Amino acid sequence: MKRKVIVRHIVIISGLLVLLLFVWRCPLEYLFGIPCPCCGMTRAFKSMASLDFRASFSYHPLFLPTGFAIWYILHKDVLPDRFRMGKKTARALGGLLLLLLLAVYVYRIAFQPDGIIKIDLDDGLIFKIMREIRG
Ligand SMILES: [Zn+2]
Repeated sequence: MKRKVIVRHIVIISGLLVLLLFVWRCPLEYLFGIPCPCCGMTRAFKSMASLDFRASFSYHPLFLPTGFAIWYILHKDVLPDRFRMGKKTARALGGLLLLLLLAVYVYRIAFQPDGIIKIDLDDGLIFKIMREIRG
């Protein structure tokens, strides 16, 4: 494996460990009470690990393409040329994935108010601190 890829893995895995150890939930939701477009991904992969694909899709319907995109970004430098995408293709697919994530996000917030993700501003750390300061 190339050194660059190893360093990239170490950085990403350390970042995830720090998030898991100190935040244990979505940082955006933790701070502001607003879920991010990827909320539910961890639970989706956890369900996939126990082969519960129905639960995986309910937690986040885009967990597979997102997981593949992350895997591809991490490994593109060590893949044989025939498995590598051209820059234009990678950008187009990345843009499409971002659009789909945004569409799913808007749909979940607008049409599934009691679903997997919900906006709860009162639960955000920032607003809790503001309430404490006001007294
Ligand atoms: Zn999130």
